[in-house]
This record gives sequence, C-alpha cells and structure tokens, in this order.
Amino acid sequence: MAQIDDLPPLRDVIAQHGLDAKKSLGQNFLLDLNLTSRIARAAAPLEDCTVLEVGPGPGGLTRALLAAGAKRVVAIEKDTRCLPALAEVSAHYDGRLEVIEGDALKIDPVKIAGGDRIKIVANLPYNVGTQLLLNWITTPQWPPFWDSLTLMFQKEVGERIVARPGSKAYGRLGVLAGWRTEASMLFDLNPKAFTPPPKVTSTVVHLLPRKEPEPCSQKALERVTAAAFGQRRKMLRASLKSLGGPTEAVIEEAGLLPTARAEEIDISGFVRLANGFEAAQKRG
Ligand code: SAM
Repeated sequence: MAQIDDLPPLRDVIAQHGLDAKKSLGQNFLLDLNLTSRIARAAAPLEDCTVLEVGPGPGGLTRALLAAGAKRVVAIEKDTRCLPALAEVSAHYDGRLEVIEGDALKIDPVKIAGGDRIKIVANLPYNVGTQLLLNWITTPQWPPFWDSLTLMFQKEVGERIVARPGSKAYGRLGVLAGWRTEASMLFDLNPKAFTPPPKVTSTVVHLLPRKEPEPCSQKALERVTAAAFGQRRKMLRASLKSLGGPTEAVIEEAGLLPTARAEEIDISGFVRLANGFEAAQKRG
C-alpha cells in the first residue's frame, strides 16, 4: 500500500486512540491511501487556498490533502476522541492543519475562510451530508465563498445530485445543484475500502459553481421544488396549489403544461416557475 508520510499507518492510529467507529456519527473510515490521494488530486490545485474538511476522523483524507500540498487545511470534527490523533497530524505538517471541534452544521464556513479562497473536500458523514451540501449550494452570496466541492456520498445521493429530468433520481437536490453548479460523479468506492464497510457503494462528486446561474430567488426555487417533488406523482396544477396564487396561470406563463409532472420539468422550467410564483405573490 502507498505511503504518503512518516506518520503511523491509519489502522495503528485508530487502535492507539481507541477510535472504534460510531454509527451515530456516520463513521466509516477510509484507510486506503491510494483512494485518499485520488480524492485529494481531484480537488487540486490546493497550494493557493484553504481546504475545509468536514469530519476528518482519524485523519486519512486530511493527511492526503496535506501531502498533496494544501496550503492550509481547516477541519471540523464533532468527535472529540479524534482530536489527539489530529494534533499529531498537525504537528507533523508544521501546523498547516487547524482543527475545530464542533458540529459543521452550526459553524459558519465563511468565517473560517477569513477572506481566503476555499475548497471543500470531505468524506461526509451520511446523516448530515445532504444538508451540508444544500447549505453550501444555497448560500445567499453568489459566486459563493467556495471554489469547488469535492465530496464523498452514498452513491444513491451522488446520483440524485447529478440527475437529469426524466430519471427516477431527479428531484429537488438535482434542481438546486444543477441550477447553481456543474456537478459530476468522478468515481465509485467499494464498501470494502472502508472500516467498517458501509452497506452501500460510495461515490465522489465534484461541483463547480456556475458563473451565472439563471436569475432566480433561491428561496422561491426551494419552495417550488419542495412543493413539486413533495408530491411528485401529481400533476403540477395539484402539487403547486399549496404555493397560492393563480396556479394554472403561472404554470402556463412559464411555458409549461399544468398536467405535467415534476420529473418532466428541466431546471430552466423550475426557474421560470419560481420567478412566476414570486411575481404572483408580490402582486398579491
Ligand atoms: N474523513 C474520515 C475518513 O475519510 O476516513 C472520516 C469520514 S467519516 C465518513 C465522517 C466523519 O465526520 C467522522 O469522523 C465523524 O465523527 C464526523 N462527523 C459526523 N457528524 C459531524 C458533524 N455534524 N460535524 C462535524 N463532523 C462530523
């Protein structure tokens, strides 16, 4: 197996610090250094920015990022048991690693950036991964505070992020991600690559911010997609009724059929709907 630094092998780090994986924290540790390095390479170049990592755990991916030349890594970890192991990584890499103990859902990533450009790279805990992604892609300021997102998810979530109209995986997440970013699935990881192995295959997704997303209020788009996909089997004229206003007229003005269903509508269609419902709301 590849060696990327002189620190002890991850298995030894886990044993030494008693880091038995906790299911409640979504802990499936990636110990294969070829794979952690591959993820770090997918986010390159890292020399000129701060890398934000959520959930470094015993530090496998963290070490790969630092070995790949990251100028600075800021890692947010909720599990205090991991902190001594991470302190050793920080010392080995001359303090280029800063660890923040806490819940990534509650920490403002913009403050972490401190004005620096940010790339987010993480093997996300499955229980908060989707919410974190939604937070990053619906951030009010656009262009966002981050230059790229290189993230590991369960494959089923990855498929929903990159989904296109007409597919079963297409839903709210695909519309929001596709509206603001160009998202692609890079490669899959077999469950056997992790300790303990999860039940499903994982995948690495890469997202780059679109320079000019179609103009639309993010809140309105979230509302429309939540209503439309919340009742995805229903026709739009029924599923969008809860938004109030002249439902059928707004749908028709958007150039869509009131009898269409959510999964047939492309991202531009949802943008037009969001703008239409917002305008109708303002008119009262
Ligand atoms: N990066 C490590 C790796 O690739 O082996 C660990 C990845 S593991 C899938 C997810 C990590 O996220 C765990 O270390 C877990 O303790 C941490 N975690 C879980 N929930 C968190 C949260 N809300 N905020 C920050 N870290 C969290």
